[in-house]
Amino acid sequence: MTNVSNACHCGKQLDATDPHTDAVYDDNTKRYFCDVDCFRDWADEHFDEVIAFYEKMNVT
Ligand SMILES: [Zn+2]
Repeated sequence: MTNVSNACHCGKQLDATDPHTDAVYDDNTKRYFCDVDCFRDWADEHFDEVIAFYEKMNVT
């Protein structure tokens, strides 16, 4: 049972089925963001998590 929250980390409620939405989906953390800028804010606050993923994907 997947339980994907449709609330953005900024507190906005998202409707990802809206064709006009700017929402983006992060397949790694399984969350939606209301737009790319909001994702960047989140990534800024979760830098350790982001860099760990980057390292796993790219650094050998
Ligand atoms: Zn947001």
